[in-house]
Amino acid sequence: MSEISWHSFSIGEAFAKLHSKRDGLTNREAERRLASFGPNKIIVEERTGLARVFLRQIKSPLVFLLVLAGAVTFLVGNRADTIVIAVAIAANAAIGFFYEYRASRSLDELRRRQDFFTWVRRDGNWQELSVTALVPGDIFRLRPGDIVPADGRIFTANNLIVDEAVLTGESNEVFKKTIQIPAAERLADRTNMVWAGTTALDGTAEVLVVATGERSEFGKIQAVIRKTPAPVTPFEKKIAKLSRFLAIVIGAIVLALFGIGIKLGNGFAETLELAIALAVSAVPEGLPIAVTVILAIGLSRILANRGLVKRLSATEVLGSSSVILTDKTGTLTLGEMSVGQVMVAARKHGSTEFIETGENSSLYRAVLEFSTLTVDAIIENPHDPLVDWRVRGRPTERAIIKAAAASNVPVNELSRDYPLLNSIPFTSARKFSVSFRKHGDKMFGFFLGAPEVLLKHIRRIEFPNGVLAATKDDLTEIKNAVNSMANAGFRVLLVGYFIVANEDYSKIGNDGVFTGLVGLADPVRKDVPNMIQVARSAGIRTVMVTGDHVLTARNVAREIKLLPAARTLATVVDGEELEKMSQDELVRRIGSIDIFARVSPLQKVKIVKAWRATGAVVAMSGDGVNDAPALAQADVGIAVGTGTDIAKDTADIVLLDNSFTTIIAAVREGRVILENLKKVITYLLADSFTEIALIAVSFIGGWPLPVLASQILWVNLIEDSLPGIALAFDPPEANIMKRPPVLAQQSLISKEMRFIIGAIGVFTTLSLTALFLFFFWGGRDIELTRTIIFVGLAVNSLFYVFSLRSFRQPLWRIRFWKNRRLLGAVAIGGVLVVAAVYLRPLQILLHTQALGKLEWIILTGFGILNIVAIETAKWLFYRRKHK
Ligand code: ADP
Ligand code: MG
Repeated sequence: MSEISWHSFSIGEAFAKLHSKRDGLTNREAERRLASFGPNKIIVEERTGLARVFLRQIKSPLVFLLVLAGAVTFLVGNRADTIVIAVAIAANAAIGFFYEYRASRSLDELRRRQDFFTWVRRDGNWQELSVTALVPGDIFRLRPGDIVPADGRIFTANNLIVDEAVLTGESNEVFKKTIQIPAAERLADRTNMVWAGTTALDGTAEVLVVATGERSEFGKIQAVIRKTPAPVTPFEKKIAKLSRFLAIVIGAIVLALFGIGIKLGNGFAETLELAIALAVSAVPEGLPIAVTVILAIGLSRILANRGLVKRLSATEVLGSSSVILTDKTGTLTLGEMSVGQVMVAARKHGSTEFIETGENSSLYRAVLEFSTLTVDAIIENPHDPLVDWRVRGRPTERAIIKAAAASNVPVNELSRDYPLLNSIPFTSARKFSVSFRKHGDKMFGFFLGAPEVLLKHIRRIEFPNGVLAATKDDLTEIKNAVNSMANAGFRVLLVGYFIVANEDYSKIGNDGVFTGLVGLADPVRKDVPNMIQVARSAGIRTVMVTGDHVLTARNVAREIKLLPAARTLATVVDGEELEKMSQDELVRRIGSIDIFARVSPLQKVKIVKAWRATGAVVAMSGDGVNDAPALAQADVGIAVGTGTDIAKDTADIVLLDNSFTTIIAAVREGRVILENLKKVITYLLADSFTEIALIAVSFIGGWPLPVLASQILWVNLIEDSLPGIALAFDPPEANIMKRPPVLAQQSLISKEMRFIIGAIGVFTTLSLTALFLFFFWGGRDIELTRTIIFVGLAVNSLFYVFSLRSFRQPLWRIRFWKNRRLLGAVAIGGVLVVAAVYLRPLQILLHTQALGKLEWIILTGFGILNIVAIETAKWLFYRRKHK
């Protein structure tokens, strides 16, 4: 079908060829076509394959080191070690596989959750449908910010401008038309067509669908480039780097020790044993799995809070964000607007006044009629009673339609009396909309938008009995009326019209008539004041960035308690002032600014850059067509669910419920993720560090190996992997939102982590070495002695894992029962130690011996002592830091 030259047909031919008409397909016919063409999906999601996940388990450099060790033991005929290493690799791969597979399934699920909607005409009615429902022959409407849902022939174009860079690679904006185009023209020049996947920047259009899904031009390319690898997060990169680093360092140490050992005349077999023990001990095998699990759990928790994370890396950055630049409308407020006040002109004692007016006045009706003519919204069921109407569109426009209908403006018939000729749609950069309509034999342009922008076009004023020229005083009075409405918390729109000259549909004519002011009430969300407070105690600054009026913004700021109690007057900078400020000056002042009002989307980029220049980690929310650059510039871009496609496409996170509360919930989860990651890393590295130190000390001392490679593997891979993963599920500490954000630049392993890893390592090594020497010099059997050290290592890590649940709180303050999974994992670990010591086959494999009561008592005491040491270290670190 896509081979057909749709652009060379007349509009009538195109409709005929697709058996469609301007009223759209019937619902029945659309269903039939959907069954035969399939859903309109451009990107067929690829599920994460089983084999891929499995391969990932063995691909890590750490596991590679193990495989190498296994091969060496096999070659020298050390069967027991070979078996343990093989079992360890298999167990590790199995656990990793299980968790990663589940994790990637939930990530796939996340990706699938994002749905885009479009306005489609069927059976003569407009309705809002998922873009997946589109079929060839359907009619859809394009609005600014839409990602074009399917390939189509344009049959009505109103100043439509489309960015087709994704398709043609040419980054110019194409102005669309409806005229026929020669068949030979290339894709980029077929300006009466739109292509799926491109973005509508401005204007509107009505389009006849000619190709959907994989048959669209974009679909054809996508079929080729679909296999894009999953994005890697900075975390994963850091972890991968750490793994590579460890693998290389360990490899080098092992080789060096091997050389030294042989040179010193130690036996080959013995030295090899040592080298392998070192190699396996130093590897934190469970790390990659834990990272995946932590991220996956975090994402599903954020989703449960109505936040859709699109880029994995966003979660960790969210956790360390220090400034939230938030939109006002819909995020801080409910975005459920209603017309609260209408003001019009009146003459009193020969001078002009602006007064509130009610439903019975003719000007009230005119205001609502003209604004209805301007807004872009659809009523899905216009034949139902008014109260049941499903009006789709932006909140502003829905409010206007509803108010107009409520005061008996014939909303549905208006277009008959005022046929539409062309329009300029609302965008937050423009801040107004215009519709050009014919009435009688005249052409009018009706406009609606921000008073500050529209006032300069006003030359005359409409009074109850006629239109008069506007004096300078009149204009000042209008400004005063706007201010008083904004002060009362209304979002103020100015309504008016002009006579169109020369069929110029590109701008407002210079003879504007003022008709009235509409004040829209938009109540603030009830939970926002509380959330602003939560953010503040978490050391996060909330700044309002809005396209709205300064006074309206101030009003909302007061209601949501944007400022701390000690301050009363918010510092507001408006777009005009911002424009005059240099970037340097802005950077200097930015910390003291609470509200940016009447800003344009481009200025948002300036604000984000300035905040980032201060070293802050910036989360920014937006919804408009032109917000995409600012969202991309921020560390975390957040789009509201009702925002434009392009904003949602650029953002890292989409708020399914638009609410500020969701942003804070997501920040909190981000912090939980960061925190648990640190716990797991500390746990695994402490293990490795201890084991290396233990072996190194005995090598230097010239004593036999205190613990065997196979025993270390048992501890690292079989015992500790479950508690390690269980830490990923740890509930957050109660004060997680009561402390300042962690610096984003901080390295993976923080100072406190190093301190704790060091403390555990040094203390355990010293005490276990003492224990070893005590038994070894006491003439005990070396196998028994090693069993004691092995059990010591194992029990120790099963104990101190509880201490690591918080770096700040002492052990007795951590709610012990809260992490059931960890309790289970530790219990299994305990059973496995006992099994390793008492079960005959394992005794043979691991060279262990049964322990007596005394040994168990000593080892338990040792574990407890170790916890005391770690708790002391935690306490010391915090005391020192807070001094
Ligand atoms: P914000 O989302 O920050 O509240 P917007 O960019 O949505 O600001 O709106 C900026 C201004 O544009 C509003 O204060 C209002 O005056 C005007 N405006 C908003 N919505 C519309 C609309 N649908 N049609 C015309 N003008 C509008
Ligand atoms: Mg907005």
